[in-house]
Amino acid sequence: PPIEGDFYHLGDEALKDEDRALQLKVRAFLEAEVKPIVNEYWNRAEFPFEIIPKLAELNICGLTYKGYGCPGKSNLMEGILAMEMARIDTSISTFFGVQSGLAMGSIYLCGSEEQKQQWLPQMQKFKVIGAFGLTEPEVGSAAAGGLTTTCKRVGDKWVLNGQKKWIGNATFADILIIWARDEADNEVKGFIVKKDNPGFAVEKMKDKMALRIVQNGIITLTNCEVEEVDRLQNANSFKDTAKVLQMTRAGVAWQAVGCARGAYENALDYTRTRKQFGKPIASFQLIQNHLVEMLSNLTAMQTLCFRLSQLQDQGLLKDEHASLAKVFCSLRTRDVVSKAREVMGGNGILLEYNVARFVADAEAIYSYEGTKEINTLIVGRAITGFSAFV
Ligand code: FAD
Repeated sequence: PPIEGDFYHLGDEALKDEDRALQLKVRAFLEAEVKPIVNEYWNRAEFPFEIIPKLAELNICGLTYKGYGCPGKSNLMEGILAMEMARIDTSISTFFGVQSGLAMGSIYLCGSEEQKQQWLPQMQKFKVIGAFGLTEPEVGSAAAGGLTTTCKRVGDKWVLNGQKKWIGNATFADILIIWARDEADNEVKGFIVKKDNPGFAVEKMKDKMALRIVQNGIITLTNCEVEEVDRLQNANSFKDTAKVLQMTRAGVAWQAVGCARGAYENALDYTRTRKQFGKPIASFQLIQNHLVEMLSNLTAMQTLCFRLSQLQDQGLLKDEHASLAKVFCSLRTRDVVSKAREVMGGNGILLEYNVARFVADAEAIYSYEGTKEINTLIVGRAITGFSAFV
C-alpha cells in the first residue's frame, strides 16, 4: 500500500516532467542529508550550517523570481518544494522561507534595480544570508499601524532606534531587512541593515519549544546608522511590506501541508509495523479511522494550496486568498499532527520516531506570518466589507 501522502496525485500528475524531477531531487537530498541529522540539531537548538552549500547546489533559492540568477519557476513549484522541506523538517523549511521569501522577496518587490543586482544573485547562492525584522517585543499582530521602531533621515544617512523580536536567522544573517516608522511622515520604510552597521546588536532567543533549529533573535537598534542607498527604494508604506507578506503567506500554507504530511506518513508507516494483540495496529478500525481523518485533512489542504498557487501564477492572488489558506492549513495541521502522535502511543512523544518534532513545530506555524485570528479578520473584512481589527 502507498505510504506517500499525495492521495490525489497532485505532485506526479500536475507537474511538468522537469519540475517533477526537481521535486524528487529535492526530496532525495532531504531524505539523505537532512532527515538523519535534524532530531539531534532540534534537540540542541542549533543550526546545521553544513547543509547550506548543499542547499545552494540545488539551485532552488528565489525560485520564482525572474532574473538576478534566479530560476524563474512557478509559484506552484515553489509551494510544492516548501511542502517537501517541511515534510522532513519545518525548521529547515523556515530557514529557507526567510532567506528566499521574506528577505529576498523584500528586495525583489521593494528594492531598486541597483539593490536587486547587488544582493539577489549572492543571496540566491546563499553567499549572503538574510533575515526579515518586522515584529517587535510589544508589537506583533498590530504591526500594520503600530511599529515603534523609528527611522530618521540625517543627511545621507538614516538613524534607526528600537527593538525587533522573533527574527529568524538573525543571529547569523549578513543582512537584515528592518521595517521602521519614519519620524517625519509616520510611514513605514524598509532598510537593508548589515550585521556590522554601528548600533546593531542581536541576541539569540533561548528555550523555544517549537522550530528549535531556527535561530530566532532579539535585535536592538541604538542610533543604528544606515546609508540612504540601503533604504529599500520602493518601500513607501506598510502596503509595500504587506505585498511581501501576501507572497510568503501562501508559502506558509504549503509549509503547514508539509508538516502534516511528514507526521501522517511517519505515523502510517509506524501503524503498519507496530503490533498489539498479535496484529498490526493499522488493522484496527479505530486506528484506521484516525488515519483516514488525517488523510482527509491532508488532501483537503493540498488541493486548496494547489489552487492557491494557480491563482498566484495567474496574477489573481489577493490577501484574503492567502489568509484563508493559512488559517485552514495551520488549523488542520494541528489536528493531523496530534492524531499522528496519538496513533503512536508513547513513542509519539519521542523525537526518534519523527512525529513529536512535527507536533511542536505545528504550534509555530499556527502563530507566525499572521495568527489564526489576524488572518481570519483579513478574510472576514473581504467577505463582509467590515473591518473588525479595532
Ligand atoms: P500578539 O499579537 O500579541 O497576539 C496574541 C494573541 O492575540 C494571538 O492569539 C492573536 O491572534 C490575538 N489577537 C491580536 N490582535 C487581535 C485582534 N484584533 N482580534 C482578535 N485576536 C487578536 N516576525 C518577524 O518579523 N520576522 C521573523 O522572522 C519571525 N519569525 C518568527 C518565528 C517564530 C517561530 C515565531 C513564533 C514568530 C516569528 N515572528 C517573526 C513573529 C510572528 O510573526 C508573530 O509571533 C505573530 O505576528 C504574532 O504576534 P505576537 O506573537 O506578538 O502575538
